[in-house]
Amino acid sequence: VFLKSCNNGFFEHNHHGHHDHHDGGKIDSAKQLIGEALRERVENIDSESCEPGEEDTFFVADLGEVYRQHLRWKRNLPRVKPFYAVKCNPDPKLLELLAALGTGFDCASKAEIEQVLGLGVDPSRIIYAQPCKTNSYVRYVASQGVRQMTFDNADELRKIARLFPGAELFLRILTDDSSSLCRLSLKFGASLDSTDSLLALARELGLNVVGVSFHVGSGASDPGAFLKAVQDAHVVFQQAASHGFCLKTLDVGGGFCSDASFEEMAGVLGAALDEYFPARSGINLIAEPGRYFASSAFTLACNIIARRTIEDVSAASYMVYVNDGLYGNFSSIMFDHQHPVAKVLRSGARTLYNTPAAEATDSVDGIEYSIWGPTCDGIDRITESIRFSVLLDVGDWLYFEDMGAYTKCSATTFNGFTNDHEVIYVCSEPGAKALLGLP
Ligand code: PLP
Repeated sequence: VFLKSCNNGFFEHNHHGHHDHHDGGKIDSAKQLIGEALRERVENIDSESCEPGEEDTFFVADLGEVYRQHLRWKRNLPRVKPFYAVKCNPDPKLLELLAALGTGFDCASKAEIEQVLGLGVDPSRIIYAQPCKTNSYVRYVASQGVRQMTFDNADELRKIARLFPGAELFLRILTDDSSSLCRLSLKFGASLDSTDSLLALARELGLNVVGVSFHVGSGASDPGAFLKAVQDAHVVFQQAASHGFCLKTLDVGGGFCSDASFEEMAGVLGAALDEYFPARSGINLIAEPGRYFASSAFTLACNIIARRTIEDVSAASYMVYVNDGLYGNFSSIMFDHQHPVAKVLRSGARTLYNTPAAEATDSVDGIEYSIWGPTCDGIDRITESIRFSVLLDVGDWLYFEDMGAYTKCSATTFNGFTNDHEVIYVCSEPGAKALLGLP
């Protein structure tokens, strides 16, 4: 469902701390569009009479936000072409927009590659960026003409020599990922001690090494990690030359956040690239951002399905149970070390989205809640303690912003709950609408 823009004056303005990089007016109208979609979807659902599933959790995705992130990338890292990391959120409309914007795609499996090829994307715009690949998938990509792939060890090189000797190989190197949310270097990446012998082996096997890749860890927070990784990559480019390889591409991986830290990261990375891989070197620069594009575009709405009152001498507090949790779209709490913050979408018959009353309050006068998921497991808790000025009850709705990255894709069906929730699409940018052929 695509919604048109709205302006009914219903939603009050709000401040939006982490969106300072954007034009404020645009954000206000984007919020209005998202708010309208949320309100339209929930206002007629009566938990006393609705059918099972009608009150299910759902997303509102603003594709305009993806478009703004694309422009922001081009402003900050104009030389680096993004290959969106599909694993982060394989939403079909998100992929369609990115394909139309001309990005490449980082895929980790046959299914992801199939999905991207299905959009009509040329195989040269795909990198199979999984250093430890499934044999049959390697044969599959060979048959589809997807040539770019990463490796970081000798066994993988021998596998590729057997199954796809014509592949275009990126040597993935180890990074210092200690400042990131999700560390990857325990599992992947060749240390600088081993790169020389790997390049020698690739030579001996007659393989085609075309570049170097790295990943500083997902949710990285130390820009110094990018500088060090670029320096190390530069060393490996020289090693490769001494083995007779003429490397063409540096892949700086993912790890970028969508908050205000992006400009700082991009500043340090851009300066390092200008120093070690200047434009005159003719080296192509690519990246594999996931979270950066997906996170802020998706807002999640959950219904309060049950409430337990905790009587206390001073004041009552409440445990509220919503119909999504750690085994669902809040899998990001477990796997991605996130702390999603609840806001009140609808309480009683009032829609509070993007108003001061929707926000948690620090005031001790606020009513205290803990927020729990719907499964029978005690770890399924979204928030230990939060206060709102409004009294919440069964049938009310909460919403959570920035829920686009590593959420739906890692949700399970534990306890028989669906993990395939509806996504309502809106688009707050005319440029993105035009690309998608929308009115
Ligand atoms: N590339 C690779 C190889 C990854 O493993 C990941 C995430 O795990 C990404 C890219 C995307 O990372 P991010 O979402 O932090 O940009």
